[in-house]
Amino acid sequence: MDEFALIDKYFGGRTRMRPDVCVGIGDDAAVVDVPRGHQLVMAVDALVGGVHFDEAAAPRAIGHKALAVNLSDLAAMGATPGWATLLLVLPSVSEVWLGAFSDGFFALAERHGVALVGGDTARGPLTVGVQLSGWVPANRGLRRSGAGVNDDIYVSGTVGDAGVALRQRAGALSLTAAQIEAVHRRLDFPCPRTQLGQCLLGVATAAIDLSDGLAADLGHLLAASGVGGRVYLDRLPRSEVYRSHQIKLGWDTALASGDDYELCFTAPPQKRPRIEQLARELGVPIARVGVITAGGALHLLDEQRSPYALNHAGYKHFSS
Ligand code: ADP
Ligand code: MG
Repeated sequence: MDEFALIDKYFGGRTRMRPDVCVGIGDDAAVVDVPRGHQLVMAVDALVGGVHFDEAAAPRAIGHKALAVNLSDLAAMGATPGWATLLLVLPSVSEVWLGAFSDGFFALAERHGVALVGGDTARGPLTVGVQLSGWVPANRGLRRSGAGVNDDIYVSGTVGDAGVALRQRAGALSLTAAQIEAVHRRLDFPCPRTQLGQCLLGVATAAIDLSDGLAADLGHLLAASGVGGRVYLDRLPRSEVYRSHQIKLGWDTALASGDDYELCFTAPPQKRPRIEQLARELGVPIARVGVITAGGALHLLDEQRSPYALNHAGYKHFSS
């Protein structure tokens, strides 16, 4: 089967239709209508085989994750996702691989209302790139800048589970089969917080998605906002699996392992009731983990409220 027939079979014929897509797959470029009074929001991410994922990784998970990382970036802007383009660089064409990859991609695209409107396919070292566009109400999108002194710092979901999966894979932990399954799901099939991001428009003062670990990503938010922060480690939202291995994991896995794809955001204290309400309505746990300060640094405080130093060097050993 040639390239065009393959694109059609696995991608063109499977994408959802959106009424705002004027020209989709099949022409030289895609054309879409951006809703009136809104701004276009764009993100792109490359996943390179052997670097961002194991070449032997399940293609369904690769298809999911390639889109998920971009959905997470758009969520952090408070954007509504709409249209994706897909770059596929493949060493050889395997229909089994393409079938599973597109299953993973479209299952997630469907859940978030995303249409695939184009892409490019080439032969070469395995690389997958997704470009995702969406929109925000004009000049109301969330940014990393905007956090103010005394704002609360929040984190959605739980952090560290993907890191637990990597440590389990490295043989550093003994988990039950159910625990292994749970943490590997978090690593392979992250659930971007699209709805939460949109609901934070007009509520959060700043936001970032967690891809490199809370310490680094919150650090970016603080730097962009020109403020500091204090985080109480015992308030970090951790899963049952994490908490049952807390002694061995310590705090670094929750702070620095990455691949969480949760949102970290700030809001003034008067928004607390609204945020609690959002957590209930969306069924998304939201933890208040700290506060924004005037100094330009991130201070981590342990259970005794003593300063905690992240063991960066020691950590690298576990991250992939
Ligand atoms: P061109 O040479 O004009 O770039 P292509 O042969 O690359 O055309 O693509 C033909 C059509 O198929 C285009 O509409 C393009 O967007 C789409 N397409 C190509 N590869 C992919 C892909 N991996 N996923 C989705 N659409 C694709
Ligand atoms: Mg092309």
